Amino acid sequence: MTDVVIVGAGQAGFQVAASLREQGHPGRVVLVGDEPGVPYQRPPLSKAYLSGALPGERLALRPQAFYDKHGIELVCGRAVGIDRDRRRVALADERELEYGHLVLATGTRNRELPVPGAKLDGVLGLRTREDADALRERIGGARNVVVIGGGFIGLEFAAAAAKLGLSVTVLEASDRLMRRAVSPAVSAHYRELHERQGTRVLSDASVVALHGGHEVTGVELADGSVLPADLVVVGIGVVPNAELAADAGLAVDNGIVVDEHLSTSDPRISAVGDCAVYPSRHAGAPLRLESVQNAVDHARCLAARLTGAAEPYASVPWFWSNQFDARLQIAGISAGHDEAVVHGDPSAGSFSVFCFRAGQLVCVESVNRTPDHMAARKLFTAGGSLGRELLTPGFDFRQHVAALT
Ligand code: FAD
Repeated sequence: MTDVVIVGAGQAGFQVAASLREQGHPGRVVLVGDEPGVPYQRPPLSKAYLSGALPGERLALRPQAFYDKHGIELVCGRAVGIDRDRRRVALADERELEYGHLVLATGTRNRELPVPGAKLDGVLGLRTREDADALRERIGGARNVVVIGGGFIGLEFAAAAAKLGLSVTVLEASDRLMRRAVSPAVSAHYRELHERQGTRVLSDASVVALHGGHEVTGVELADGSVLPADLVVVGIGVVPNAELAADAGLAVDNGIVVDEHLSTSDPRISAVGDCAVYPSRHAGAPLRLESVQNAVDHARCLAARLTGAAEPYASVPWFWSNQFDARLQIAGISAGHDEAVVHGDPSAGSFSVFCFRAGQLVCVESVNRTPDHMAARKLFTAGGSLGRELLTPGFDFRQHVAALT
């Protein structure tokens, strides 16, 4: 009977604990988290919770009663060291927890803006419930909002702020929005969408300083211009929380390195979720993803291994983002694609982009076209793909997949 200690009580850590119990794990399950309260979901923080549409109690992944009922011990504390020889985790308050198996589910933290003024009052990030509460408090009194970073979280926040009627400017350092994750057609569509709602979008915009005394008053760009701002939201990416693993001598390379069974080089320590870099059969390379799907599926795969049903991790990556009335859903991994074909009508707000690598479909990005997204997931899950030559203008993707699977 193995006692499992899980460090990090976010989406992945919670799911490991819940799945272990689901699979009948008889040993202790201890979930250590450094945020207050029961584990909660992050996606609504930049969507319904931010706008007030989702009440705070609905953020929780499960109520306290769930943990009591299933014998999952919630420990509030910060893990600061791992003694691999004695199989113990040290907490900041000097408590020690002994483990049979240790799971690192430490997630990521926001990358800091490396310019003068980044710590002024009114400059905020969005990762935790505490961050979202601080933003909710500020947003009502704000007039000029500047969002630094045109990725998913920055844009979801910008949409929420624009809906409240605020003046919003999005600054993106690269030449297009969500560059890391989507094709140019989707970037262009979202730029138009935000601009139509009155948001100013500046690409190739490099921030050199934030101005203000105690409170932020402006954002200075490399060309010398200063944008007025009384609320600045920084969403310039994240850094994996991998120091605990590195200090314990485990391999770390832009995250905690694991094998296809999500094990680190120490067979008694695994890593899951946003903090883990795993060999992805879909990307054909090591990959670290930041998504609910990845956190949940990693966790289920690991719990299955720990309860005797080991299978290599093979889930199809998928993701969603809601901005205004557009639901973006991505199935597969578009990195390295060499051709992108638009299907449907972007001007009508409903289309999919099929991304090919060397003539084979590797990713489908769908905007308000959930059936395409579901078909793509089904196709990739079945190990299938689609040859580029089949995607003619009249091609019925959903029917094709239905016939195949
Ligand atoms: P996390 O949820 O970050 O949890 C890690 C936890 O570990 C944190 O609570 C952290 O404080 C704790 N921790 C770290 N170090 C220690 C330590 N030493 N000791 C104790 N505890 C520690 N994904 C989607 O798929 N769709 C979306 O629409 C979407 N929207 C998002 C919106 C926002 C605002 C954010 C922030 C994320 C969003 N995501 C979305 C991403 C998704 O929430 C993450 O991928 C997911 O939460 C990852 O889960 P995780 O458990 O790996 O990490």
